[in-house]
Amino acid sequence: MTFDDLGLLPELLKAVHEAGYTEPTPIQAQAIPIVLQGLDMMGGAQTGTGKTAGFTLPMLQRLAHHASTSSSPARHPVRALILAPTRELAIQVEDSVKTYSKYLPLRSVCIYGGVDIKPQIAELKEGREIVVATPGRLLDHVQQKSVSFAQVEVLVLDEADRMLDMGFIPDIKRILAMLPATRQSLLFSATFSEEIKKLADVMLKNPQLIEVARRNTVSETISHRVHMVSADHKRHLLLHLLKESNLSQVLVFVGTKFGASRLSVWLERQGINATAIHGDKSQQQRSEALEAFKAGTVRVLVATDVAARGLDIDDLPHVINYELPHTAEDYIHRIGRTGRAGKRGDATSLVAPEEKPRLADIEKLIKFKIEQVTLPDFDPGTAVYHEDRDRVRGRSRHGHIREREEHRPHGPRSSVALPRPAAHVPTIAPDGFDFSKPYEGKTGEGAASKSAAPPRRPVKPVAALLGGFGKKNNA
Ligand code: AMP
Repeated sequence: MTFDDLGLLPELLKAVHEAGYTEPTPIQAQAIPIVLQGLDMMGGAQTGTGKTAGFTLPMLQRLAHHASTSSSPARHPVRALILAPTRELAIQVEDSVKTYSKYLPLRSVCIYGGVDIKPQIAELKEGREIVVATPGRLLDHVQQKSVSFAQVEVLVLDEADRMLDMGFIPDIKRILAMLPATRQSLLFSATFSEEIKKLADVMLKNPQLIEVARRNTVSETISHRVHMVSADHKRHLLLHLLKESNLSQVLVFVGTKFGASRLSVWLERQGINATAIHGDKSQQQRSEALEAFKAGTVRVLVATDVAARGLDIDDLPHVINYELPHTAEDYIHRIGRTGRAGKRGDATSLVAPEEKPRLADIEKLIKFKIEQVTLPDFDPGTAVYHEDRDRVRGRSRHGHIREREEHRPHGPRSSVALPRPAAHVPTIAPDGFDFSKPYEGKTGEGAASKSAAPPRRPVKPVAALLGGFGKKNNA
């Protein structure tokens, strides 16, 4: 099947061809005819399936008869409302709307919080047929009377399951109550809990059900891998993976905002271009970080689940779970960033012994065991890391750990290999790490190693690894 077979307008087909798409994805092939008929729909589709074009293209076609080149705001009332859980997703969806409506005089606006409301009010005053919004900010506009829903014909609720997770359902119900009763409604969700079904009951009329990926399944183009490692060694293993496999454009998930910032700062110290994206960052910081990552100037984007929601990066090849998510379904959401639209991707998880129950939950949900891979050439005892060296120095001179690099004396220094623990019987991890040996060794922040055998590889001085000690501290 081609896009031409779907009965889309020439203006839309032209935009689709220019976007480089030749064939509709399965969800597009199913959704486009349903939406074109004006029917309500409930779509079970995770991100990466092409669902945005699946609802945007037919929606634009249904609004095309309203298209007007008039500058009068009265000729451009809000006709379609698309609700998304995060700013990033809203921006991404509105980008798609703009791409596909390029040859139709329909106008769109993106409404989200964390930025000045005035420019949004000004845009709404000019008249916009399509409003893509996060629920909270949209309600602010309702309060300010800068938006009217009187002429809304189409409502789309994107990523409804995430709306639920983020506590937006009451806001959505308030918005639903303000919309005209005669309208077309579409709901998309990667997963369907009882609460989502209840929401669908109040929002949709005789919906057509479509489901492209089976519920709670993951794309077959993604290869999954687990490395068992103690929590204290995770950052070292991450650095090893980044260096040894020469990974570029890596999205790393961590559990907390604080953890995201801390890890990105540590990676920067090790000479890896990294930045963090999380809820405490301003919209501008998040946009800049994302742009730098997309442009390839930042190699590693460290993100929390909420911040990463809706990120659309073409060809993102690697996702690393630095920590496993607390809910198994978030594993599916996280790795939905890779392996999109049939491309290959890989999802690597660094799993500490205490995370094993979470791993078991994930494997139960995705219905297969993830391969546990041992990295024979990873040995945290053979490398020296910036702060580790500092700590060793700090202890020997002052008897306590100094964490901040700027306290170091200036000038060239010799590297100090981390002290290695005494021989012990290997335990626990399939890759041989001995988790019974704490990372914080007797003589400093030493690295527990899997045996007392000499290092397989020579100790690399930090100067050689990082191109000299004069490197700026980015902390
Ligand atoms: P979505 O699931 O809407 O977030 O889309 C996932 C990715 O697939 C986006 O990067 C789209 O640009 C891309 N995409 C959408 N439709 C197609 C198509 N028919 N062929 C190839 N790529 C597509």
